[in-house]
Amino acid sequence: MAAATATAADARPFPLHTGIATVTAVERITPKMARITLGGDAVAGFPDEQPGEILTLIWPAAGATEPVMPLEGWRYPPGTPEQHARNYTIRRYDRQAPSVTIDLVLHGDDAPASRWGGRVRPGDTIGVAGPRVHFFDDPEADYTLLAGDETALPSIAATLERLPAGHRALAYIEVADARERQPLAPRCAAEVVWIHRDGAPAGRCPKLLDALRAATLPPGRAKVWVAGESLAVRGLREHLRDERGLTFGPMQAIGYWKHRQTPDDVDLDG
Ligand SMILES: Cc1cc2nc3c(=O)[nH]c(=O)nc-3n(C[C@H](O)[C@H](O)[C@H](O)COP(=O)(O)OP(=O)(O)OC[C@H]3O[C@@H](n4cnc5c(N)ncnc54)[C@H](O)[C@@H]3O)c2cc1C
Repeated sequence: MAAATATAADARPFPLHTGIATVTAVERITPKMARITLGGDAVAGFPDEQPGEILTLIWPAAGATEPVMPLEGWRYPPGTPEQHARNYTIRRYDRQAPSVTIDLVLHGDDAPASRWGGRVRPGDTIGVAGPRVHFFDDPEADYTLLAGDETALPSIAATLERLPAGHRALAYIEVADARERQPLAPRCAAEVVWIHRDGAPAGRCPKLLDALRAATLPPGRAKVWVAGESLAVRGLREHLRDERGLTFGPMQAIGYWKHRQTPDDVDLDG
């Protein structure tokens, strides 16, 4: 896998592509995960350099039929009404089609992206902007440690498929219950631990933290990538950094979403 550097990411215009994509397929891969395929010129010519690159989905403002797209520098034209925009992971990119597949967590109808994901049909359209490099490779790493909740699962799955054969990876994935587990197809030598909430609410990830606390980590240099609810990720990062001493290499701990009760000052990368 080519190493993504800040330089490579920075060299791209920001955003690289914008446009209106058409939904070409919708599949419910687990009870709470919709797999949505987007096609059309808006998704043509993506660089696809790293696993789990990020695409921003943009919904039209109330009363509008199409979203307004961001300009260079991710600025919106003056007068753009408030629009809903959320980040999703490119689970798979098909350069020939072209098409982008995203896996979208259905966490409830009171949130716009989740509601859309539960109702979207082939032929519907959505604004897209991106992609952005998200995973920063550490070529010096002896192993890769990936951890997160179901919103991190698309990125973890894509990363396990792209890390080179022979590279060791540990993945700790928290999902609602056993029905939310997905078959994974790692190319690398992966050990995957599934953690089930089994009725506990999404967000704080105490079982995931317990599982990491109990984990025997290999010796050597770790590339660490953690994502999920912002406050939970802060706890996971503190454990790995302060209690495990995993301070070397480019550790990535990314807040993917924020629970309604999470204070605003908990803001991680994302
Ligand atoms: C870089 C990046 C990549 C991401 N990739 C993915 C991906 O591939 N698939 C994916 O599903 N998500 C992904 N996410 C997370 C996704 O963007 C958020 O979950 C987003 O908040 C969903 O938008 P919404 O409109 O449904 O809810 P919002 O309007 O943003 O939030 C409303 C409320 O819903 C609740 N909420 C939000 N998300 C969740 C959740 N997952 N579970 C439970 N409650 C929630 C919170 O309490 C929040 O206050 C990613 C985020 C980032 C930053």
